[in-house]
Amino acid sequence: MTDRPRSHGRLAISATAQPRDLMAEPRRLAGAWSARVITLFPEAFPGTLGLSLLGRALDRGLWGLEVIDLRRFGLGRHRNVDDTPAGGGAGMVLRPDVVSAALREAARGTPEDRALWPVVYLSPRGRPFTQATARAWAAGRGVTLLCGRFEGVDERALEAHGVEEVSLGDFVLTGGEVAAQAMLDATVRLMPEVLGNAASLAEESFADGLLEAPHYTRPTEWEGRTIPEVLLSGHHERIAEWRRQEAERLTAARRPDLRPRDRH
Ligand code: SAH
Repeated sequence: MTDRPRSHGRLAISATAQPRDLMAEPRRLAGAWSARVITLFPEAFPGTLGLSLLGRALDRGLWGLEVIDLRRFGLGRHRNVDDTPAGGGAGMVLRPDVVSAALREAARGTPEDRALWPVVYLSPRGRPFTQATARAWAAGRGVTLLCGRFEGVDERALEAHGVEEVSLGDFVLTGGEVAAQAMLDATVRLMPEVLGNAASLAEESFADGLLEAPHYTRPTEWEGRTIPEVLLSGHHERIAEWRRQEAERLTAARRPDLRPRDRH
């Protein structure tokens, strides 16, 4: 841990404790791609997004993260955000008035065109997030992500704001925060100025609808295991051909469902 002054992206986060600071967007580079995350657990951010390449890019203002604390919009002395489900049943549901107020704030200053700025509720009912989704989001100007908790969100708030639902996968999480971080990680790393090495993007899994070939590094022999001969040959064409074949083989064996649909 360091005690250096908190840097750009993190400043943007703490700033959202006060509503008007959302507009101040301290030290984020003008026009930088930005995520707004609505959550009951702002302390979960930036989380893993604050580490390594993405964290450094956040600090440098190459992308922005604004966390909007849903609790701020809660009602009454206890700032209640949820209530029991209509029709009965277990758990609690996030209230439409509370969620709507947060979505309204998150919409301030964002483009109306949802292709440029998707407004998303993270939900197991949603369309699955894929590399194509990450590419589409990265091509826009930003995204708003609503993290659910408990049983989820009152349907009317989603309808009223035309929110689309996106799922991290066919399993149920306790809340949307982990899903938001996973999706933002996949999206932000596609920005050339963030990753800094576009070549490594071109060859990785899903870039061309295939899983990636296996990797090896030194030592050339380890516990009796060697590296495929071709990789030591220095013959770039044969290496590329080997990688292509391995990618095809792995994809057919592991993910026969993957189709070239996920190509550019
Ligand atoms: N009752 C809901 C699940 C609620 S889980 C249902 O059966 O569909 C609580 C919150 O976690 C959800 O509101 C959602 O925001 C988040 N969540 C859970 N699973 C998720 C997934 N697979 N993808 C994205 N978000 C998810």
